[in-house]
Amino acid sequence: MDMLIAGFKPDSMVDWRGKIVATVFTYGCNFRCPFCHNFYLVTEKMGERYDEEEIIARVEELGDWIDGVCITGGEPTMHKDIVDFVKEIRKIKPVKIDTNGSNPDTLRELLRFADYVAMDIKAPKGRYEELAGVPVNIEKIERSVQLIKKYARDYEFRTTFVPVLKKEDIVDIASWLVPSKRYVIQQFSTGGGTLDPSYSQLKPLDPIVLRSACEEIRGNFEECIVANV
Ligand code: SF4
Repeated sequence: MDMLIAGFKPDSMVDWRGKIVATVFTYGCNFRCPFCHNFYLVTEKMGERYDEEEIIARVEELGDWIDGVCITGGEPTMHKDIVDFVKEIRKIKPVKIDTNGSNPDTLRELLRFADYVAMDIKAPKGRYEELAGVPVNIEKIERSVQLIKKYARDYEFRTTFVPVLKKEDIVDIASWLVPSKRYVIQQFSTGGGTLDPSYSQLKPLDPIVLRSACEEIRGNFEECIVANV
């Protein structure tokens, strides 16, 4: 296997709602979201590197201390060995995958093994490239949405409510995704900086705005959650 793994956190309580997990951070991403706060995985030269075998051994060691493993990034689906890696981890613990949805072919394979998938929806279709920071093939994003709805064992779509988005944008996204199981509106955070430094100057919205958007679109989903407020 030849994954680029840049980080491992053995005890995360924030990466899989309601679970204590080990989190694996893959290196590299094909998006350049200006609000990204994992930008060191995206733009900086890779520092420490972990072998897959080392990660698998550490997950085995953790045993009953963790409920599962979250594989995040960066963008995990960029790695050609991601499916084999997930297959191996899945022999030990349930697996959650975080993705930006830009690689539906790989995602389709991963859905055979993943227990939970969280896909970012960066913006309504008309503003996608602004919030992803690169040209985006929206058909691929749409295909990932449909694959997840059809094949994921469990899933969420989630949007960071970056203050450049409006409540109408969240409503637009909700009409795009309907019907879906779960939608999460995440609070924007500048902690640790952002890929585009000008986004670090933005003030997170009042949680009331997030809750009010959630109330407005609740009927489109089995569950609508406001997170990180
Ligand atoms: S926030 Fe955007 S740039 Fe950052 S890791 Fe996720 S998809 Fe990549």
